[in-house]
Amino acid sequence: MKYHYDVIVAGGGVAGCAAALSAVREGKSVLLIEKTLTFGGLGTIGLINFFVPMCNGRGKAITKGMCAEFVELSKKYGWAFTTEEWKNGEPKEQTNARYMVRYSPNMFALALSERLYKEGVTILLDSVVFAAECEGGKIQRVRVTNKTGDEWFSGRMFIDATGDADLCKFAGAPTVDGENYYTYIAFGATLESCKSAYEEKSIGKLYTNFNGGKSTLYGQFHPEGMKKFKGTTGEEVTEYILKNQMELIESLKNQPPDSRDIVTLPTMPQFRTTRHIEGMYTLKTDDAYKHFDDSVCLINDFDRRDYLYEVPLRCLIAENTKNLLAVGRAASAEGYAWDVLRVIPPAILTGQAAGVAACHAIEENADIQNVDIRRLQNSLSEKNVLIHMTKELLPKEM
Ligand SMILES: Cc1cc2nc3c(=O)[nH]c(=O)nc-3n(C[C@H](O)[C@H](O)[C@H](O)COP(=O)(O)OP(=O)(O)OC[C@H]3O[C@@H](n4cnc5c(N)ncnc54)[C@H](O)[C@@H]3O)c2cc1C
Repeated sequence: MKYHYDVIVAGGGVAGCAAALSAVREGKSVLLIEKTLTFGGLGTIGLINFFVPMCNGRGKAITKGMCAEFVELSKKYGWAFTTEEWKNGEPKEQTNARYMVRYSPNMFALALSERLYKEGVTILLDSVVFAAECEGGKIQRVRVTNKTGDEWFSGRMFIDATGDADLCKFAGAPTVDGENYYTYIAFGATLESCKSAYEEKSIGKLYTNFNGGKSTLYGQFHPEGMKKFKGTTGEEVTEYILKNQMELIESLKNQPPDSRDIVTLPTMPQFRTTRHIEGMYTLKTDDAYKHFDDSVCLINDFDRRDYLYEVPLRCLIAENTKNLLAVGRAASAEGYAWDVLRVIPPAILTGQAAGVAACHAIEENADIQNVDIRRLQNSLSEKNVLIHMTKELLPKEM
């Protein structure tokens, strides 16, 4: 074993990037290990290029902190669309228009690489975390495979941002499997989309979706009789991708080859849920508006106006683990609350919270569940993260 870090982050999706950046800004040595060649995970190579609403539906921004920074990064080198009312930041007047942003996945990915690289995060790309060694409820080191071969990296704190709770699973932490409907979205261009991009002088209009499976979040259009996919074995991931690609090819056959092209295929499976931790607390749909003493961020429902959730630190910690946090899609929630917690803006905030919490645990020589919660909340507040609900954010009838 050659290397030792303060904080090791497994997975460089939006949550992992946020965790790594926030930890390095606390002055700690940070290793970020990413399986692919690109940062952003589903938010870039998964072609999910959309920050769902980040406001309460009445003109107040809710998911701020590093999420606001990532929104700016997504626009830094590329095209972006947002609602008219939010073009110049939080509107002065109350509005029902929601704050959401669509962006170029590749430009966002490049901007993420640049930020991580320039801020001194140690990066390992094309590298997979595939094992963990634990002692007394603490991970001591993780095993990584890449071109070098297999190597061990030791650390003091670990953050699982794999989206699949892989590291938690390797560490023996309790996890819950999910199920997925059949979805496959590729980006393409047609002669018509080229024409409208040119006429409107807007390159983002170039792209149009080409689908394999067309299921929605709520399962509409899932083929009758088809199983739901867990996505936790190599065989099933392969089956899912190949089935979807065959379906995409079928749909292309009706169109003259010169009239359209696929610009980019997703290069990670578009599973919403594979595995997440069973945390010390599991966020529930009924927890909307509930106060948690150990909240580390306030988030909003992307679909329904008003519904706000405080996210306790305990949702990021599995029982019996002392130096491991799970963020983004791997955090602990159930039912619809999990959908609210795992989308891009909250994933960034749980990543940010975990990065700071991990550094505080090191400084306080504490297990992660015993960090000084007030100190953590103050530190996150200073970084513009909303922690608790305030009266002005609640609907009038409450
Ligand atoms: C079809 C679909 C539509 C969606 N629509 C939206 C939407 O419109 N708006 C929205 O906000 N959200 C949407 N989401 C949800 C959102 O995209 C994800 O929940 C969010 O991006 C998760 O981010 P993450 O960082 O937690 O995980 P991921 O994006 O999954 O990132 C995990 C990263 O870890 C890496 N990794 C995995 N395993 C390992 C390992 N063992 N070692 C090293 N690296 C590893 C992966 O390569 C990846 O880069 C959608 C999701 C899907 C599937």
